[in-house]
Amino acid sequence: MENVIAIDGPAASGKSTIANKVSELLKIPYISTGNMYRTVTYFILSKNIVVKSLTNEIVAPILKEIDLKYKENEDGVFDIFLNNLPVGNVIRTPEVANAVSIVAMLPAVRHWLVEKQRALTEYGLILMEGRDIGTEVFPKAKYKFYLTASPEVRAKRRLGQDGETIDGATVESVAKEIKERDERDMTRPISPLKQADDAILVDSSNMTIEEVLEFIISRVNK
Ligand code: C5P
Repeated sequence: MENVIAIDGPAASGKSTIANKVSELLKIPYISTGNMYRTVTYFILSKNIVVKSLTNEIVAPILKEIDLKYKENEDGVFDIFLNNLPVGNVIRTPEVANAVSIVAMLPAVRHWLVEKQRALTEYGLILMEGRDIGTEVFPKAKYKFYLTASPEVRAKRRLGQDGETIDGATVESVAKEIKERDERDMTRPISPLKQADDAILVDSSNMTIEEVLEFIISRVNK
């Protein structure tokens, strides 16, 4: 068994909010693998490369320029560093959100990141959140959850997050973007987003954050 709590699910399903709280309560590190894919995407965009033109051959030397690390801050949170600088909020822009699922389709990018994700178990029990944690990265994870919510609820939640959507965005326009990203994530040939057979499904459409938290913690404590 792998010493991991895996939380997978579609965009804006509340994974990071829940993962943050679970990790605080259990006092274990929490890793957002989406932030890793976003950081790689941010780096590629900063070089003015058109992501749709990327291939494994083109991206391989670019990955060699990236040093991606996690460092624990004084609150016990694992912050992501790109070439020794904290990435902060630059990865949470609409530009990065629109490009990331295209970059995440590239096998070269996935192999490079999955290796880093697997190496993070050196910290003991960890919580890792993403799209393929329970299916690909840690198929033998001790605990697996698949967190989802209705498209409308997810679009409303995303609209409530600062900086993640363009000015003038509506529930409909955000729902459309989320749907496009989910479709790309669910239909890609490599490690598509899907619920692992042994993952516990949590549909949070009609649940409060506290209820989801209680449900997950009760399963982990069992
Ligand atoms: O979780 P977040 O929405 O920040 O993830 C951004 C994107 O990164 C996803 O839409 C997906 O394309 C990619 N991703 C992935 N595999 C993961 C985590 C994220 O392909 N394990």
